[in-house]
Amino acid sequence: MSQRVFSVILLPTAECNVACTYCFEHKEPHRLPLLLVPLLTRQLLDHIEHEGIEECEIYWQGGEAMIMGPAWFEEAGRIMNEAAAARGRRFTHYLQTNLISYSPAWDEVLRNLFGGSLGTSMDFPNLHRKLFKGGAEAYSALWTKRLREAQAAGHEIGVIAVLHQGSLDAGPEAFYRYYTEELGLTSFQVNTPFPGGPAKAVEAEFDLDKTELAEFLAGLFDIWMERGHASGVSLGPFDSLIHHFTGAPARLPCIWKENCSSQFISVDSKGTVAQCDCWVTSYPETFFGNVFRDIDLTQMLRTSPARREFIERPKHLVEHEDCLECRFLSLCHGGCPVRTYSALGTMLAKDPYCEVYKAVFGRAETHSRALLRRRVPVGSRQ
Ligand code: SF4
Ligand code: SF4
Ligand code: SF4
Repeated sequence: MSQRVFSVILLPTAECNVACTYCFEHKEPHRLPLLLVPLLTRQLLDHIEHEGIEECEIYWQGGEAMIMGPAWFEEAGRIMNEAAAARGRRFTHYLQTNLISYSPAWDEVLRNLFGGSLGTSMDFPNLHRKLFKGGAEAYSALWTKRLREAQAAGHEIGVIAVLHQGSLDAGPEAFYRYYTEELGLTSFQVNTPFPGGPAKAVEAEFDLDKTELAEFLAGLFDIWMERGHASGVSLGPFDSLIHHFTGAPARLPCIWKENCSSQFISVDSKGTVAQCDCWVTSYPETFFGNVFRDIDLTQMLRTSPARREFIERPKHLVEHEDCLECRFLSLCHGGCPVRTYSALGTMLAKDPYCEVYKAVFGRAETHSRALLRRRVPVGSRQ
């Protein structure tokens, strides 16, 4: 495993201050003690040295990460960054938060540790993100207020939307207008849902008809190309697909990485190591080990039987699925293991969103060809 970037999804707590109906977290009241941050840091630095990794990205998530408070992050960031600098390495920190407890007290650490940007989530329409008291409507109102406050403080904010049946019913036009016009965002992304852990309770809302989902995404892609692409609106994952098909450097989402196991791990507040946050909270049978108990993270990752299945998944797919005949194989690699596992109970199958991906890739290809044609000077066309 040797690559330039390694990404660690760090969950300093599984606690949360809201009550989304689709949440897959087991919200235990446990927090990562600052006392253990040096040990965690040493394990990560040893690992990136062993593997010759140049850059390590830390994605702070939860639960709700802001529950830890700004002072905790300031100190944790200082400990990690000083230890990395002493070994000639560097961590880059990112924060994903529900924003509900954002206040100006966060501004300094947001600027210093997170480069003045943060990620948050909001669905359209919001039916499932709820406050403990007041439900979804109160959540939307408070979240929008916090978004405005954070924008006014100068932070750059990217928003993730998880699609559900209500999004498909509302249609791509209303969906696009909500994020760009009502919220005034220039950066958002759409994620496909998967029924992990307790989210099974609302499975019907998220078990989307694949044809309907493909049509929605194709429609959204067209709207974004027409109104947003040339005017600075970034809409993931469509923007990275356009980069890919036009030959620009593309940062594709993890679901389409060659093998997500070579770039990501997740560590929770108790030190549990798993493939990503989706696994660490929902599927204990797939844990790789514990960073506070196992002496050597590299050794743990190399010898974990649970991780072996991730590593061998792409080989298995080309041998047993029709991915080998797929013209998008070098882009998709069979899709996301957790989406597959949550739908089929095994990760050794292709992603159940296969047909949706093909439709989106096809759209990206068509739009990219049109962009490339426009770039060729008229006189040079054969
Ligand atoms: S989905 Fe995230 S924000 Fe919602 S309850 Fe779960 S941890 Fe909290
Ligand atoms: S299991 Fe899926 S969501 Fe998790 S890192 Fe891999 S591709 Fe990403
Ligand atoms: S689009 Fe479908 S067939 Fe093609 S590589 Fe992805 S999962 Fe396999």
